[in-house]
Amino acid sequence: MDDLSPTVPRRANVAVIGGGNGGLSIAGRLCRRGVADIVVIEPQEEHCYKPLLSHVAGGTARASQTVRPQAAVTPKGVTWLQDAVAHIDAERNRLELGSGELLEYAHLVVAPGIRQDWDAVPGLAAAMLSPSGASNYLLDLAAKASPMLRDVRSGTVVFIQPPGPASCAGAAQKPMYQACAYWRRKGVLSGIRVVLLVPDATIFGIPEIDAELERKVAEYGIEVHTGARVQEIDADQRTVVFTTDSAAAGARAHSVTYDVLMAEPPQSAPPFIEASGLSSPDAEGFVDVDPRTLRHRRHANVWAVGDAAATTNSKSGGALRKQTKVLADNLVAVLGGGEPGAHYDGYGVCPFTVSRSSAVFAEFDDQRRLAPSIPFWRTSYRESRLAWIIDRHIFPHIYWHLILQGRA
Ligand SMILES: Cc1cc2nc3c(=O)[nH]c(=O)nc-3n(C[C@H](O)[C@H](O)[C@H](O)COP(=O)(O)OP(=O)(O)OC[C@H]3O[C@@H](n4cnc5c(N)ncnc54)[C@H](O)[C@@H]3O)c2cc1C
Repeated sequence: MDDLSPTVPRRANVAVIGGGNGGLSIAGRLCRRGVADIVVIEPQEEHCYKPLLSHVAGGTARASQTVRPQAAVTPKGVTWLQDAVAHIDAERNRLELGSGELLEYAHLVVAPGIRQDWDAVPGLAAAMLSPSGASNYLLDLAAKASPMLRDVRSGTVVFIQPPGPASCAGAAQKPMYQACAYWRRKGVLSGIRVVLLVPDATIFGIPEIDAELERKVAEYGIEVHTGARVQEIDADQRTVVFTTDSAAAGARAHSVTYDVLMAEPPQSAPPFIEASGLSSPDAEGFVDVDPRTLRHRRHANVWAVGDAAATTNSKSGGALRKQTKVLADNLVAVLGGGEPGAHYDGYGVCPFTVSRSSAVFAEFDDQRRLAPSIPFWRTSYRESRLAWIIDRHIFPHIYWHLILQGRA
């Protein structure tokens, strides 16, 4: 006989959906501010520091350096519930979990990140399973990419950056520059055709950063197609079919045959957000928050940060450093009976590794204007060794020890 007894809901003062970069960071910040009874719902056993995946693919970090047990990185004083949220019932302040349990909350922070849509382009998923396809967007594919890129001595290598919302969109380019530097050192670069497909009219979209990246593109002899949209990939024939803005209506699509394919997947909001009624037509499936206060526009006890929030910034971990501080200030104010007074300014960052020892530290606001944040370093967008050291060696320490604990 079926068990008909109702599931007894658990309760949390603050429930956080997702124990990734944003979820743990906000949980840590709130805990340090004295907020009690915080529950983070996260299904994965291991936590991944994603910026290092580009270094894994590019051959300058080991896969093992990117992951730590979720239990070890969850801030002390915060409860980790190993489960996935299936539905948010914002009218009744409760979550329906994959396990069938219910969790009631007083406040909710939504931070489940962005979905990778490997099936959005015909043939992309099959290409990733083939011996010639890899990516820096998933740990196993990044580990696969490293020896693949290292062993290229001739032929064609294609790098794809898709259109649409993306987590650190420019990250598709990072292993490309690292591989080119490696091939140049080995004396084989001139025999390799390197093709980059980017979705926008320029390589990044901010003049100073475009200039820096275009200088590296010219230096390595990379063939760039702007306004590119991949139509399909044939994993057996190893071809990518794509159109560009310059191919006017009626013009034929381009086709390129590859020896190695490196692809960033198309990305979109996790579907349960819209299905739970927390999005809006303008928010494209992401959580419909006020992009300044990070509070939901219709549910005053619902908040969101990170890749899942419909904010105006470029989605990145760097943006989260500012977002989580603002959200913590506002939520603590509301818990104390006040109003949210802190405002997020739309800051974002994308550190481009442009060789195996230098990087371009692209910091910008939601108007795509430069927004350098490090005191006395206005030219961080220029290629430098210092930017590399920060990206490869300093940020991982800050991430594991300070950011995830809500200290930075
Ligand atoms: C390859 C790559 C390189 C990058 N490089 C950089 C960089 O150099 N600099 C930079 O600033 N940013 C970079 N980023 C972006 C940065 O990693 C993200 O912006 C950041 O991780 C977003 O944090 P988040 O908490 O929103 O999502 P995530 O960190 O992705 O965490 C989301 C968590 O939610 C969990 N989750 C999902 N669904 C559910 C559910 N239904 N219920 C419960 N939990 C759920 C997931 O398991 C995950 O742990 C990069 C990203 C990638 C992919």
